Amino acid sequence: MANYKNLIEKMINSYIISKGICDADIIGAIRSIPRHIFVEESFSELSYSDAPLPIGHKQTISGIYTAALMTSVLELNKNHKVLEIGTGSGYQTAILSNLASEVYTIERIRELSLKSRTILDGLNCKNITFIIGDGSIGFKEYAPYDRIIITACSPEIPKPLLDQLKDGGVMVMPLELDRKQNIYVIRKNSGKIEKKIIAPANFVKLIGKSGFAG
Ligand code: SAH
Repeated sequence: MANYKNLIEKMINSYIISKGICDADIIGAIRSIPRHIFVEESFSELSYSDAPLPIGHKQTISGIYTAALMTSVLELNKNHKVLEIGTGSGYQTAILSNLASEVYTIERIRELSLKSRTILDGLNCKNITFIIGDGSIGFKEYAPYDRIIITACSPEIPKPLLDQLKDGGVMVMPLELDRKQNIYVIRKNSGKIEKKIIAPANFVKLIGKSGFAG
């Protein structure tokens, strides 16, 4: 993919800036990450469109607008410790790694975790800890987290994740309620939980103890 830098610029203009996401740090992060290396070679060009694409094991890489939108509501800074559930291809992880201090990313499918790790090591992302397991119960060892992002859809907000979110923290995730899937921003303030819909969504299922049954 010799000309991928042009494709990234086009993608940023068509699917990010024109849809209202203008944060310079997020755009800078997206500009610095080659997206095609996270998908199979036959999908290289398509990885710069706005479609979710297969990454094997019946899972998908999120569309770029969705990834950018979920990142933007987290309002990340270089002091943040972030927990990500659903490493998948590792593309979203790369964005988080660029904008936060530490990233802990959990994936239940071993092969996907190992593959994403190889790619992210190749990009020299050093602040990521890869965990293989059920992320619906979070990862207590490194809690609490300033930010939590779940990139798989759940029927309810996993209670262990709410417990592992810092007070004043923000979480973003797709929830399926009344058979409709939407992305929610969830805030925890003085122990009180507020949730707000920001966009419709189409994610694969969060499979685990506090998600859908496998
Ligand atoms: N952000 C990823 C999205 C991957 S799709 C990307 O852009 O590539 C969602 C991922 O969540 C899948 O890889 C799936 O295996 C994983 N997943 C589903 N349930 C999980 C669970 N309980 N714990 C950890 N990962 C889970």
